[in-house]
Amino acid sequence: MLLNRRTFAIAVLGLCTLLSIVRNFTSQAGQVTSTLLIGGSKIDVTIESGEMELSQTELLHWAQSAAEAVATYYGRYPVPRLQLRIIPVGGSGVRHGQTFGYDGGLIKIRVGKQTEAREVANDWMLTHEMVHLSFPSVADEHHWIEEGIAVYVEPIARIQAKQMSGEQMWADLVRDMPKGLPQEGDEGMDHTHTWGRTYWGGALFCFVADVEIRKQTHNRKGLQDALRGILDAGGNITHDWELTEAFKIGDRATGTTVLSEQYAKWKDKPAHVDLASMWKELGIAAEGKSVRLREDAPLAGVRLAITAPAASKKTDLEISPTAVFAGRASAASRPRS
Ligand SMILES: [Zn+2]
Repeated sequence: MLLNRRTFAIAVLGLCTLLSIVRNFTSQAGQVTSTLLIGGSKIDVTIESGEMELSQTELLHWAQSAAEAVATYYGRYPVPRLQLRIIPVGGSGVRHGQTFGYDGGLIKIRVGKQTEAREVANDWMLTHEMVHLSFPSVADEHHWIEEGIAVYVEPIARIQAKQMSGEQMWADLVRDMPKGLPQEGDEGMDHTHTWGRTYWGGALFCFVADVEIRKQTHNRKGLQDALRGILDAGGNITHDWELTEAFKIGDRATGTTVLSEQYAKWKDKPAHVDLASMWKELGIAAEGKSVRLREDAPLAGVRLAITAPAASKKTDLEISPTAVFAGRASAASRPRS
């Protein structure tokens, strides 16, 4: 691989004014490392040795797009410093991502050597992994919330960063959200560790909470405000928190008790969700593999607000006092062993 020093153009993210610059290349034992700057955060991208169809520039652009989507959703990048390791493997496509809380944050992601630029342009996996950085580590029985947030936030973040369309997301959710509904023998979110309940059950929890927060606040607040509140209080992947504490802080950011109450209802029992009614109220009508979005539906405004660009949401000033409170609260929470 080429090892010449390069500087890339600055990408500006709307009103967020988050800057992303590829700073330098260095070489160690056949690896190539460069640093992306996103706002005040640094992402060290290491491309492990191995011939790939994708150029360094294309891989870095992919990492930058995912980072910009997550920074757009949260108003900043979730951790000050991330190690991102791209591991070439046989075949094609983005394969397997893992996110760890140690050393300030580490993501390992495998990319097929035959992967083409258009495949990474449509990739969701790296954004999903980066969303994991934005929520505190919780006890194993609550793993569903970590996956649920990543599944639910990933497309919204990409829509807000203008990387995908709302129609696509709603069509995907209409197709996939039923996988998160409780099945026979379900014992609630904290005790039913199936794939469907962990990933899509967690996403369903987020979706139902998002709509409820918006209904209760006349569409002025949503789950995005709650999640920003938790992150602003220091709740990123490098810290171990009690889930109830995270929800309390999230609720404070929206001025509701939606997350805490919904968790109390869902944790030990299968919660019934009438998805067909929710799609109808939100104005989402399935048409084959796509959807038709109706603006005359009672909750069409809620649907639009869920994916509206973060820049149009007035959150930062309103969340600040919460962050001060939450900082104290988080210091008292029990670390996991
Ligand atoms: Zn995940």
